[in-house]
Amino acid sequence: MDDFSGDWGISVMVVCAVFTVYVLVLLLVTSGRDPGIIPRNYHPPELESYESNAELGIDQLPRFPRTKDVVVNGVIVKVKYCDTCMLYRPPRCSHCSICDNCVERFDHHCPWVGQCIGLRNYRFFFMFIFSASLLCLYVHGFCWVYVRKIIDSEKTTFIKAMGKTPASIALIIYTFLALWFVGGLSIFHLYLIGTNQSTYENFRYRYNGHANPYNRGIVHNFLEVFCRGIPPSKNNFRAKVQKKSKMPLPHDLGSSFVSTSSANARRGPNKAAWDEGIGRDNSMGPEISTVESMENRL
Ligand SMILES: [Zn+2]
Ligand SMILES: [Zn+2]
Repeated sequence: MDDFSGDWGISVMVVCAVFTVYVLVLLLVTSGRDPGIIPRNYHPPELESYESNAELGIDQLPRFPRTKDVVVNGVIVKVKYCDTCMLYRPPRCSHCSICDNCVERFDHHCPWVGQCIGLRNYRFFFMFIFSASLLCLYVHGFCWVYVRKIIDSEKTTFIKAMGKTPASIALIIYTFLALWFVGGLSIFHLYLIGTNQSTYENFRYRYNGHANPYNRGIVHNFLEVFCRGIPPSKNNFRAKVQKKSKMPLPHDLGSSFVSTSSANARRGPNKAAWDEGIGRDNSMGPEISTVESMENRL
């Protein structure tokens, strides 16, 4: 700090510290918020029409049609049925295999943040990676300024200046490497926001050769991410956990849709048969969960 004239040294440090705290707060908000989890159904939907419309699978379990067509901004979009959550996912929603939840406007599961990135935390996620990129640039830049200052003031060579401030050199290398990661990610997400795609949709080439019904022009797309109100969470994570015995059990649900004899034959010694049948497409393990287990996973 003393190497800079006037209050410059302190200013550089204060800005860096405040900016670091800001980035950490964004990280906390991104990872701590409900990303847009859709609460699971305890019953399959539309019980009345279920028996007439559903087909029987090889395990004699009635099956919902796997997809349904819905119209979004004049374009037909297929929505899938989630066996785990027992609901038709809204458009752009997907089931995260790590969190084991359906998440609205699913972008991706971020292992670094330890959370799904979806409708309710995408804005903060982008702000986090963008701010982290700026912080890397800031630290990287001022480390070079400091090295330059040593060279000028001591009339020494670059190599000798490096030896005098190994911390700056370590930071220069670290921020350079980090910048490739968070900076590249920020640029990629700028492109995604501009074209109104999620990472999930982009990786699946969902709009290659198809119209993207969500793309309303670059300005509207940015406004949608940064200015649109964020809907409230659909989950009450502080709710009292119900006793499991009061919850409808999977095999009880199953027996209400198929004859008792076939249900018994299928049920066997435990509910594994139901789990396999219901989770056949996404191998999510046990399907019905309580609020408690959802909280634990989060
Ligand atoms: Zn799901
Ligand atoms: Zn996830």
